[in-house]
Amino acid sequence: MPSDDTIVAIATPPGRGGIGIVRLSGEHAIEIVSELVRFPKLPLETQRATLGEFIEPESGRALDRVVATCFRRPHSYTGEDVVEVSCHGAPVILQHFVECCLARPLAAHRAALQDSGGPQEKVRTAEPGEFTMRAFLNGRMDLTQAEAIRDLIDSRTLYQARVAAEQMEGALSRRLQPHKRALVELIAGLEAGIDFAEDDVPVSSWTEIASSLDVIQADLGKLVEGYEYGRIVREGLTLAIVGRPNVGKSSLFNRLLNEERAIVTSIPGTTRDLVSESASIGGIPLRFVDTAGIRDTADEVEAMGVGKSLQAIADSDLRLLVADAADGWTEGDSKLFERIRPLGALLIACNKSDLAFTPLRLCGSMDVPMAWTSALTGEGIPELKDKILEVAAPAHALASEGGFITNLRHQQLIKESLASLARARSAAERRVPHEMLLLDLYDALHALDTLTGATTVDDLLGVIFSTFCVGK
Ligand code: GDP
Repeated sequence: MPSDDTIVAIATPPGRGGIGIVRLSGEHAIEIVSELVRFPKLPLETQRATLGEFIEPESGRALDRVVATCFRRPHSYTGEDVVEVSCHGAPVILQHFVECCLARPLAAHRAALQDSGGPQEKVRTAEPGEFTMRAFLNGRMDLTQAEAIRDLIDSRTLYQARVAAEQMEGALSRRLQPHKRALVELIAGLEAGIDFAEDDVPVSSWTEIASSLDVIQADLGKLVEGYEYGRIVREGLTLAIVGRPNVGKSSLFNRLLNEERAIVTSIPGTTRDLVSESASIGGIPLRFVDTAGIRDTADEVEAMGVGKSLQAIADSDLRLLVADAADGWTEGDSKLFERIRPLGALLIACNKSDLAFTPLRLCGSMDVPMAWTSALTGEGIPELKDKILEVAAPAHALASEGGFITNLRHQQLIKESLASLARARSAAERRVPHEMLLLDLYDALHALDTLTGATTVDDLLGVIFSTFCVGK
């Protein structure tokens, strides 16, 4: 995809709106817009919005009043010349503007045609994500920041947006920076010791090496653990609501959703469809799977529902087993409990607490978090929400301490780095030659580099020659 082409695309979502924006980036962006739009004066001022008229090339008639904002390289999103043209938000106008951009015979293009040897830069429509990719390739942001932009655009809750915004500001890169720096210094020290052995270079002791590695390992380890929570923040969590027929699963589900969605009825076994809806708890999108009542049944349709339910239960992040407080803890509840316990995180809701006049010993010896709720009165629902978050995201507290990762790619690369660090650590204990240790350190650094951006040979040389007085 990388190229010198000038790219153009409609930047606003499809559909009608007050305004719609066409964005251009590349060498000819300003030239194209200046040809298509009549402005009071040219050239366009940088980082200023200028009112103009979009003139249809064929008829010479004004089609729309537009505002163009011009950003000259390198002070733009992509690092190239960028123009954003706000038209009125009619899809036909936006589309026509893009087509006119593509059809424009550029002055430079014409010249290139005459000069047969030169490269012929084109104008073309942008590939998905190409503006951001150019921003990355031109050093305007690192990979984690580019990924955060995608997360920000995809966010469904304000909390998700805030987490993405932090990463967009480079939170993860800043957190990793000291570790990369420490690794570069370790590597530089060992390299210098090898290359300039006769020059009296101070070489780190084995203890110093081990303790620097310990610090890096401890913090990277925390980041990896925090991913359990970060994943849930980014992707949301799925909650399967399980229980005997008529215990109030649909009612509880509706309470959590704050709206009437699933069919509530007092005839046992009527919630046959898996109803999946979204809500959010503490800024984390929550997808409920309201499962059909699981019980042995002769009814074929219901039996299919039961099969589907079991699969959905197994696939969920968290299971909420609903019991009827008025019935007490029944054999049916025990059976369900045994069945779903091995599937992962589990929470029990003793529903219909409004009907239970005496405290029930529901699940006395079972070591599972429990909440008392009444789907009818709403009692205990806030506590249930808190417990859901607690059980589904136990790393919550740990993660909120100092930032967390939300992306699987980041987790895998940090794990890779940790594996190399562990090898380096044990190599240091075994006092293997520095050359061998260096291989693992380079691997550990490389994994972090892939995450944010490469450490160049110049960085290493810079450290070697500034920190150590070699060569005199
Ligand atoms: P499901 O089969 O488990 O989905 O149960 P439903 O949500 O359809 O509820 C079955 C019956 O119990 C309905 O008549 C509800 O109105 C009633 N119900 C549900 N939750 C409560 C509650 O907390 N208290 C009382 N008193 N009734 C409830």
